[in-house]
Amino acid sequence: MYTFCLAGELIIQFTTRQTNILEIIQSTGPITGNQIAEKLQLSRAALRSDLAILTMSGLVGGKPKVGYFFTGQNMQNLKTTIFNTILVADVYSRSIVVAENSSVYDAIVTLFMDDVGTIFVVSANNVLEGAISRKDLLKAAMGSKNNHEMPVSIIMTRMPNIVLTTPEESVLTAAQKLLHHQVDALPVVKMIKVGDQTTFEVIGRFTKTNITRLFVQLAEK
Ligand code: ADP
Repeated sequence: MYTFCLAGELIIQFTTRQTNILEIIQSTGPITGNQIAEKLQLSRAALRSDLAILTMSGLVGGKPKVGYFFTGQNMQNLKTTIFNTILVADVYSRSIVVAENSSVYDAIVTLFMDDVGTIFVVSANNVLEGAISRKDLLKAAMGSKNNHEMPVSIIMTRMPNIVLTTPEESVLTAAQKLLHHQVDALPVVKMIKVGDQTTFEVIGRFTKTNITRLFVQLAEK
């Protein structure tokens, strides 16, 4: 079975034979039904329903006297659909945060205990104030003997310089932000507006691991 699955929702499911036919059409099309049957050592009649399903899927086109051909355009649409329809909400992890007045030492302990690479720094009500990466902590640890006393607020990258994402954003856009800004993680936030003031509540984290997991899930399905 070859299945395109989208955020848990079934889109198209092909049998192994249909997948083989699709691959033959993709690599050698336009190709006639008889030629496909020959390659698969099957009768033309045995392929009729498979070819009908592939044609209906839109991935394969058929023209009399020409044969079957692969409609790359539709594949492109499918890819675009997959990447634009899967949202950060479908893949993000729980947030790992420390308070602004936590020490560098505490942040290092959190990094190990929660097995993360980036920690977000928050004030009351989980409001985002900053981010600390592994290297920020390494640098601080190398440069100071007083990690128990030094607050993370001194070493963090602070708002408004934090690159954010939201549950509603597509995974593709969030992944592009990771690459473009050369960071390992984005805080997943909910915007809170009180009067003129806008703050961001941290509700999760979006990381390279989320993308890797999604990639493997899509490939395995
Ligand atoms: P590392 O520093 O361990 O290579 P990153 O590449 O994620 O990890 O971080 C690089 C720098 O960017 C660090 O100084 C960190 O504080 C900062 N940073 C981390 N995440 C973000 C983010 N989402 N937005 C802005 N800056 C960030």
